[in-house]
Parts: sequence; C-alpha cells; structure tokens
Amino acid sequence: MSILPIVIYPDPALKTKCEPVAEVTKEIQKILDNMAETMYAAPGIGLAAPQVGITQRLIVIDVSSREEGAPKKLYQLVNPKIVAREGEIEWEEGCLSIPGFLQNMKRSAKVTVEALDKKGKPIQIEAQELLAVCLQHEIDHIDGKLIIDNVSRLKRKLYLEELEKTEPSYPVKHRRGEL
Ligand code: ZN
Repeated sequence: MSILPIVIYPDPALKTKCEPVAEVTKEIQKILDNMAETMYAAPGIGLAAPQVGITQRLIVIDVSSREEGAPKKLYQLVNPKIVAREGEIEWEEGCLSIPGFLQNMKRSAKVTVEALDKKGKPIQIEAQELLAVCLQHEIDHIDGKLIIDNVSRLKRKLYLEELEKTEPSYPVKHRRGEL
C-alpha cells in the first residue's frame, strides 16, 4: 500500500463530477487500499478519490478515531449514493484538500447510503451524527462539491493567500485552478 499525495484546492480534479465505477476490479481495490492508507496517515476521517486525483466514485471513511476507545471501523465504498435523509444538523467541517479552512455546514442528521463494498457486494449503511456528516461530505466530493463553495469569492481568495503560508503535515500536490 502507498500513501498518495493529497490534491489541494483549487485543483480542477476537486471540481469534477466523478464517473461511476463499472466493476470492482483488483485495480479499484488497490486504489481503495491506498486511499485508506493515505487517510490514516494524514490523519483524516474521510477521503474521496478526487482528493488523490482519481475522478471515480470511490470514498473511504473511518470516524472511530474521534470516539474514545472505539474499534477501527473502515468503510471503503464504491458508487455510494444517499437513498434516504432525515432531520437537520449543523457541523463545523474541515477538509484535507482545504488545509486550515473550517466551515459550518447544514447537513441531514440521518442518512441511508447504498454502495458496493470493496468486494463488489451491495451494502446499506444507516448513519447519524459524525458518520452521517462525513458520508455527505465525501459524497459531495465525488460530485465535485466542496465546503469552500459556500463562501464568497473574496473569502476564497483570502483563504488562498493564507494557504500560501501554510505547509500541511502530509504530502500534497498543488495545482492552479479556478476559484
Ligand atoms: Zn473533504
């Protein structure tokens, strides 16, 4: 397994609506494992394929590090889709591709997600709280949506100026793109 460099805002890969995966091949499984390795190393609690420059509908999530004493629980999901939502919750979110940026987001409090697992088997996840928020954040990524999309262009420009002075603690890849 290898740690991949994380693509940083405003790389065009982060704006791409990603393609569904036709078949869960060995290659896809390898990508999912490298994504998990990259997420744990950062460290982060979720990562979507465009964040490592791969524009396919793949996400990995493990929120267990945020709950004291919780066992590791890794989700490696192919073509995840929200099929039901309930309620509303507000959460302050960050993103490995937008280091140093935090944004309050309104999310559904509970979601049901359907996906294929790493073996290509259909699964359903019922999630609430942090896991629900994280699923919505990562599924936004594969639709090309970012938490920074919700602020003004001026704020995005100011953020980029700040970013010039920050060096994330994990390997990154900078590429210029539209704000
Ligand atoms: Zn993110």
